[in-house]
Amino acid sequence: MRLLVRALSPLVLGVVLFFGVLCARPTPLFRRTIPDQAFNPHRCTWYCHNHGCRHAPKFPGWFTSDEGAFGGTVHGLYWLGSLMTRDRFLGYGMANLLVFCFAWPVGTYALWLLAWKQHDALRAARARQKQRAW
Ligand SMILES: [Zn+2]
Repeated sequence: MRLLVRALSPLVLGVVLFFGVLCARPTPLFRRTIPDQAFNPHRCTWYCHNHGCRHAPKFPGWFTSDEGAFGGTVHGLYWLGSLMTRDRFLGYGMANLLVFCFAWPVGTYALWLLAWKQHDALRAARARQKQRAW
């Protein structure tokens, strides 16, 4: 029973938080539209999201540029979307949901289970080592 509770607790917590945010009134984290803000020369706003960013990047180009990791990720999402539909933007949206709402959480959960298994194996090895020392 303890094993089941331990394995399912992150999943239950995720579902509870998800529905908590969805059902909360007012809904501070849930938007129906993308905000439209004015350009601010000192920092990024929704203007940058909606129209492209003109600010100097804080991270190196290999990470933030269209030719770097950011651009590669966007191109990869468009490519993945093209495998599912001919509608370029619908496919991009579907790929985003598939990667960031399904694959990423499943991968994170799998890593959590792996870390848990390794933790138990180390604990058991430590206990065996203590018994031999006596
Ligand atoms: Zn910006």
